Amino acid sequence: MNYHRFDCIIVGAGGAGLMAALESSKRVGTAVVSKLYPTRSHTGAAQGGIAAALANLEHDSWENHAYDTIKGGDFLVDQTAAEILCREAVECIYDLEHMGLPFDRTAEGRISQRRFGGHTKPNPNYDPTAAPGTEAAKPRLPVMRACHAADRTGHMILQTLYQQCIKQGVTFFDEFHMLDLIMVDGECRGIVAIEIATGELHVFHAKSVMLATGGFGRMFKVSSNAYALTGDGPAIAYRHGIPLQDMEFYQFHPTGIYRLGILLSEACRGDGGVMFNGKGERFMEVYAPNLKDLASRDVCSRSIYQEVRAGRGVDGKDYVYLDIRAETINKYKTSPTGGTVDSAWVEKRLPDIIDFARTYLGVDPIKEPMPIQPTAHYAMGGLPTNLNGQVLRDSQGDPVPGLFSAGESACVSVHGANRLGTNSLVDLVVYGRRTGRSMAAYALDREFKELPSNPEGPTKSSIDSLLARPRSEPWVKLRDEMQATMMDDCGVYRTEESLTRARDKIANLKERYKSVGVSDKGSVFNTGLLEVLELGCLLDLSEATVAGALARQESRGGHSREDFPDRDDSRFFAHSLIWRAGDNQANVTYKPVDIVMIEKDGEQVPKYPLEIRKY
Ligand SMILES: Cc1cc2nc3c(=O)[nH]c(=O)nc-3n(C[C@H](O)[C@H](O)[C@H](O)COP(=O)(O)OP(=O)(O)OC[C@H]3O[C@@H](n4cnc5c(N)ncnc54)[C@H](O)[C@@H]3O)c2cc1C
Repeated sequence: MNYHRFDCIIVGAGGAGLMAALESSKRVGTAVVSKLYPTRSHTGAAQGGIAAALANLEHDSWENHAYDTIKGGDFLVDQTAAEILCREAVECIYDLEHMGLPFDRTAEGRISQRRFGGHTKPNPNYDPTAAPGTEAAKPRLPVMRACHAADRTGHMILQTLYQQCIKQGVTFFDEFHMLDLIMVDGECRGIVAIEIATGELHVFHAKSVMLATGGFGRMFKVSSNAYALTGDGPAIAYRHGIPLQDMEFYQFHPTGIYRLGILLSEACRGDGGVMFNGKGERFMEVYAPNLKDLASRDVCSRSIYQEVRAGRGVDGKDYVYLDIRAETINKYKTSPTGGTVDSAWVEKRLPDIIDFARTYLGVDPIKEPMPIQPTAHYAMGGLPTNLNGQVLRDSQGDPVPGLFSAGESACVSVHGANRLGTNSLVDLVVYGRRTGRSMAAYALDREFKELPSNPEGPTKSSIDSLLARPRSEPWVKLRDEMQATMMDDCGVYRTEESLTRARDKIANLKERYKSVGVSDKGSVFNTGLLEVLELGCLLDLSEATVAGALARQESRGGHSREDFPDRDDSRFFAHSLIWRAGDNQANVTYKPVDIVMIEKDGEQVPKYPLEIRKY
């Protein structure tokens, strides 16, 4: 048996995992296990920016940021967690700067910031009696809060954190794929992983284990997510009886490249880009009269669907245009400063986006608009955690001893029903850091506990039986059917009927999955085997997502039920917890949202009173 022992084992080398590793390795032995080479993690694909109220270009405050985050999440956000996020964001950005992250700069040498959807400040000249459409009639105005390195912010964060981890002596197991958690009496004592190059199993014995395995957008047909985003961490925990939180809230980003889903960052609109329907109308004026193209993502994605349904897609098809030409930005006066810009400015601000469009679409965005459609982008739900990254096993807040999570695999919950752009990267660094600290403290407090005999046994027998199976149906067919079902029946819009269909279909796919085989029976780089195992994870998470969506009979944030079009705070102002109950069955329970109270006129009142979300 290949046996390794570390105080802390971190599964995942994206922003969340690396930030945690940097912190925990200051105090205890730490290893990072990653199925990808670390700098290939999806964090490296993040484009537009990372939010923090630095107030480098205009007045801003962490309180403004917290309000926007809570409203953006349609009030399903845990408010203490959001306040911590927005307060600690500022310090984290300076930490990253001191680590050497090459942010873009203002003329004065400060970190540059840009606008992003849903990030606002109060309008000092607001007048509720002003004529609609005028500047004074807008209660809030866009604010420049997204720190960025051109449109390659995530790449720079990932490279910076990786370099720091190497400098600090963190041990890396690259291209090791975690297949199971070692759980004893409800406590996590390590993981089992397969070394991709050799097919050998390895046992990692630990006091603290962190799941930082990122998102699971590959359950949908059109997605911005990399192929490796298959939700292994949450799926494996779910199989061990740990609940998943708020899975019905999956974000569709409005501007994916038509049919391919490749992301065209919201920075396009932050920097002045405008969306048009097939009739050349700036349709966001109708759906979000104040913030227009800078409304939150769920609002923009639904608006695109509405336009397409009304026959106003381009050429009657299911896409619209995103236009970032300098002449358009000048015509609509949407540049961040309100002044005029030229093509060279656009090229400098959005170099990768322009490159993607030229390469994948054959369209030059300097000269023509780009065809776009909503693309599955971000999981608001995931493993429930407390403020220190401990995974929770029930609605009372009891932690699973030894198990931690942060980043997209976790749900702390700072994004509620809809995440604002640039709030994921900041979640990674703020909660990655907190989790790293708490894992180290947990490990320092404890001795290693014994592992069961033969801890890799169950993993070995399931791989052996998969390899021994004769090839029946191709697994790729199952994956395609799952992705089409989730896209069509559990996508931007949902109904009881579509979700019931999705539930039955996923159950059917899970049955068929039991007999799929793989053609490669070898042990060296058997990627076919690993993809089948990843598909198993996606099927489990699809089951949980559909169960959450079916149970939530309201529309809130990224979850839009056509049969229940309104938000229903009397019944559903609560987080869902989704539990595996037998082979093809998931149960749903609810737990309250955390609310911050303040004193006003001698009374305790909510600091962020519920309001109907308008942009
Ligand atoms: C195209 C794109 C652009 C984005 N732009 C922005 C942006 O501008 N601003 C913003 O705030 N957010 C953005 N996001 C969202 C943000 O990038 C992600 O939510 C975030 O990077 C997730 O980080 P993470 O550390 O949780 O996981 P990831 O960076 O996805 O890393 C996951 C890690 O887990 C490892 N792993 C997974 N499964 C296993 C396993 N079984 N065994 C071992 N290792 C495993 C992988 O190897 C990888 O290292 C964007 C997302 C996309 C897809």
